[in-house]
Amino acid sequence: MSDCLFCKIVSGEIIPDVVYESDNVLAFRDINPQAPVHILIIPKQHIVSLNELDTGHSIVIGEMYSAAQAIADEYGIKSSGYRTVINCGDDGGQTVFHLHLHLLGGRALGWPPG
Ligand code: AMP
Ligand code: ZN
Repeated sequence: MSDCLFCKIVSGEIIPDVVYESDNVLAFRDINPQAPVHILIIPKQHIVSLNELDTGHSIVIGEMYSAAQAIADEYGIKSSGYRTVINCGDDGGQTVFHLHLHLLGGRALGWPPG
């Protein structure tokens, strides 16, 4: 989608700090990190939110979580622990309407979230 921030990242119009890329998935550092490690993992195809997912997306969703595991390993937080979050909709705190998985770690994270 031409007006989607993360589609502009996928197309190269906006250049993020990329940490991982595969055919279907891109991961980059969050511009406003909430933890020492804060990576966003996105599908290259435009999917608005978790609400739009169906079984046809199972491969790309699997790849997003495989990427999370690989990045956690690369950044040394695989054994200390980390959190993956998908915010969905306004009450969920979603501000960019292109599906993304937050990978947060490098410190003890509080629970419940605010
Ligand atoms: P959410 O609030 O779950 O939709 O998450 C959107 C995330 O995108 C926020 O954590 C923002 O800090 C992050 N973000 C916004 N613009 C950029 C950008 N240009 N590069 C990297 N991260 C971004
Ligand atoms: Zn998009």
